[in-house]
Amino acid sequence: MDFLFPFLDLKAQFAAIRDEVMAAVTRVMESQQFVLGREGEALERELAQRVGVREAVGCASGTDALALALQALGVGGGDEVITTPFTFVASAGAVARLGAKPVFVDIQPDTFNLDPRQLERAINRRTRAIIPVHLYGLAADLDPILEMAGAHHLAVIEDAAQAIDAEYRGRKVGSLGAVGCFSFYPTKNLSAAGEAGLLTTSDPEWADRFRVLRDQGSRERYVYERIGTNSRLDEIQAAVLRVKLRHLDRWTAARRRHAERYLALLEEGGVGDRVKSPVEPPGCFHVYHQFTLRCPERDRLRDFLRRRGIPSQVYYPLPLHLQPAFSYLGYRAGDFPESEKACHEVLSLPVYPELTVEQQAAVGSAVAEFYDRDRATSECLSPADPETAIV
Ligand SMILES: *Cc1c(COP(=O)(O)O)cnc(C)c1O
Repeated sequence: MDFLFPFLDLKAQFAAIRDEVMAAVTRVMESQQFVLGREGEALERELAQRVGVREAVGCASGTDALALALQALGVGGGDEVITTPFTFVASAGAVARLGAKPVFVDIQPDTFNLDPRQLERAINRRTRAIIPVHLYGLAADLDPILEMAGAHHLAVIEDAAQAIDAEYRGRKVGSLGAVGCFSFYPTKNLSAAGEAGLLTTSDPEWADRFRVLRDQGSRERYVYERIGTNSRLDEIQAAVLRVKLRHLDRWTAARRRHAERYLALLEEGGVGDRVKSPVEPPGCFHVYHQFTLRCPERDRLRDFLRRRGIPSQVYYPLPLHLQPAFSYLGYRAGDFPESEKACHEVLSLPVYPELTVEQQAAVGSAVAEFYDRDRATSECLSPADPETAIV
């Protein structure tokens, strides 16, 4: 069955900014300068200022931003880096790619982010860094993480891929740790026309290392100081990102309005006691990269929504410690109960800025209908329509 509207509508976004985007792309085409040029430099300046750091360094992807940060720190074989198992694969993949060992710490069930109270147990003399992930657009609880890192001389590398403009106690994410890593993959809140990423730091020495490493380890042409990589920022991506950056405040405000409306719809629909809605702890500014519910009957709810033409997604169905690629780490089912439970219970609803009030109402009433029928079924009443009965 077809969906009534997409889970993410990038065509609607493009339609609204088409002329600006095309003018920016044309400008790059006319310059015929495609890599590390004026657009990239301007984007780095604009984003450094926005995040509230001294330096921003563009690169080819969010995954590379994490790997460049770790490499600049000198992380390699024999080192350990802590992150959560309830995240996108790259948070831990970047660690493994450098020959270091990802060490997982479970999440807090309400925020889905790293639980600082479980951090200390995971730290030993091989630990070099902590990668808190600001999942779904909500900042991790950074103060206790930074304090613990300080006490053990560990670097904090923020995985801010899903959280541009999110705030923690009045500061933007990406400005609190030693380094912030951003992704501009097309599905992210600020998205390129392809792949792009960025590192933020207030330490000019770190920024210098990122610049050398992203460009084959070279500062001077054909002289290589270090073994680097090709992870340069492309000018077309930078130009498109600069256009979209001018709309980001408005888009984030729309995401937050949608989140509020969902909360009201779920209350009105009488399902406030059946599903857990996202939280925004005091001092945090959530940018709702995802609006993620949790409920034990997630799979049945998702099937029901699909039959009603309502799109939804599961981020993420399997925690990293149980992924085949990380089996060599020797973790077992049961090691991180909150992450495992979240994988069975989370459901993200569409929350992109262009979503209309009518579309949101359709989502809200479908969720309410599911629970009405669920209640009817559990009270042994015969459902009105056997076709869509919940079994
Ligand atoms: C998207 C994402 C990344 C990786 O970014 P890419 O640009 O796709 O390489 C890393 N971490 C998290 C949490 C992400 O959501």
